[in-house]
Amino acid sequence: MSLKLKGVAAAPGIAIAPLVRFHSDMDFVPTRPVGEHEIPRESARLTEAITAASKSILFLRKELETSISAQEVKIYDAQLALLHDETFKSDMLSVIEKDQVNAEVALQQVVDRYEKVFEDMEDVLMRERAADVRDVGRQVMAALMAKERSVYIADGQDYIFAAEEFLPSDAGIVDREHLCGIVTARGGKYTHGAILARSLGIPALAAVEAVLTKIESGTPVILDGESGQLIANPDDEDYDVYRRRKAEQEETDRRVFEVRFLPSKTADGEEVRLLANVEGTRDLGQIENNLVHGIGLFRTEFAFMERRQFPTEDEQASMYQRAIEWAGDKVVTFRTLDIGGDKPLLYFRTPEERNPVLGWRGLRISLDWPDLFYTQIRAILRASAGGHARILLPMVTSVSELRRCREVLDEILSDMKSSGEPHDTEIELGAMIEVPALAHVLDLVLPIVDFLSVGTNDLVQYLLAVDRDNPRVADLYSPYHPAVLRLLHQIAEQAAAFGKPVSICGEIAGDHYFTPLLLGLGFRELSMAPVFLPRVKLIARTISAERCRELVAEALRMSEARAIRMLAKEEANKIWSEFLQGE
Ligand code: PEP
Ligand code: MG
Repeated sequence: MSLKLKGVAAAPGIAIAPLVRFHSDMDFVPTRPVGEHEIPRESARLTEAITAASKSILFLRKELETSISAQEVKIYDAQLALLHDETFKSDMLSVIEKDQVNAEVALQQVVDRYEKVFEDMEDVLMRERAADVRDVGRQVMAALMAKERSVYIADGQDYIFAAEEFLPSDAGIVDREHLCGIVTARGGKYTHGAILARSLGIPALAAVEAVLTKIESGTPVILDGESGQLIANPDDEDYDVYRRRKAEQEETDRRVFEVRFLPSKTADGEEVRLLANVEGTRDLGQIENNLVHGIGLFRTEFAFMERRQFPTEDEQASMYQRAIEWAGDKVVTFRTLDIGGDKPLLYFRTPEERNPVLGWRGLRISLDWPDLFYTQIRAILRASAGGHARILLPMVTSVSELRRCREVLDEILSDMKSSGEPHDTEIELGAMIEVPALAHVLDLVLPIVDFLSVGTNDLVQYLLAVDRDNPRVADLYSPYHPAVLRLLHQIAEQAAAFGKPVSICGEIAGDHYFTPLLLGLGFRELSMAPVFLPRVKLIARTISAERCRELVAEALRMSEARAIRMLAKEEANKIWSEFLQGE
């Protein structure tokens, strides 16, 4: 019998493959008292899991040898050394024996203990080792609890990834060649896992709460990233319907993709600049350079999150240089580190916070930790010598933060000038508008910055007081809310009055229903996940700027998000169906 579950459509496309459950962390630990006679079996399970984890680390080390630094290879070696450490193993075996508990519990207890020892050390480098211990623990746990995962991966078959969340560190370790869908129990459309799925161009669903309890690994499933439907054990009719739909979608995508050679202008000739959001240099390989005007948002923190320790200035500079080389004479907008909130670094634990999204995140961390900020700005400046780089600051709340950043930038510029290091002496500095307060003081902000970029994912979250990651309030998270529209209107007008460029880099830039509204509001620079570029370009080319302004005038008179969405959707759908009926 087929089982149908509903989730949030997080990345478009249809995937048909077996589902594989991943345990990405140690939160869930089955606890079971074991009788004396079971102790040898639990000890053997633990020993086998340690061997399996060593094999997979060795495999990974070999796979990544050519693409990671010698420093990182050492981290894998340190992890292997821990796995082969006799004390580590005998500590766990003695917990099984003394407390008469299953291997998973013993593992968690010992890992927690070791982690704490490293975390309490004075030396920063030693403290970083805590992350290795945790990571090793996760891998042994995965081997204990989800053996089927390695079977599927090793088989080299297509599969659909299922877990609580899809983390950037997962993107680094899963078999991406055969990954054809992602489904998570938590999160929503604006979660970073969903953003990552879109940038990888992989269909995804979020907030399918029962996925890990109701569907076993190996079950065949159909995932529909447009409607939010997940079907386990599909019947023949489901297969017929979805195979047909998948083929139709692929055909439509192929036709839409042809717009890439056409000019990016509205029907009445106003230029629209379309840019890509990327989470790392590997995304660049998937973007056709002639489809974009550049990179509007390079989320640098993802590269930090996929690693096991902070990248050095040289490592960062060479990563940024690769992006600059790819872009040629086009712009690359490097957003400085935006960690904290829902983007933790395994090797940089920040203190527990009651409201992390309102806490120590983004620019706040960079300014409190100048070493990190200076290193990153220097690395971007070094890369800027080879092309057109811009610096974008996340989570800016006040003018004083911006002034401080200007000072830091000026200081580094003057140091580099004295030392003769090549760089762009006039690099542009921009602020993200994510905190509503900043949008209300633009007259003070605009003289200090060279450009603005509106991060609507966070702006909507803070303006409407709705968590972007919480499925329970997902219905309240609407970028079509009249307050959002009015604020965007105000931002576009003020930026124009000061003659400063402003772009949108939140997910609405890639929502083709929103395109007529954004154009009507006056935005001419939209940066989005590459997968959405062709559709947005098609809408932008077909509609006139004049018609967009009429729509916005009508939308601004409306009081309900739903009505505004309907108005925009009808307009976009008209264009879309005319396109589908054409030739
Ligand atoms: C945003 O908040 O809109 C944004 C682009 O940043 P992120 O999604 O990475 O928080
Ligand atoms: Mg943001």
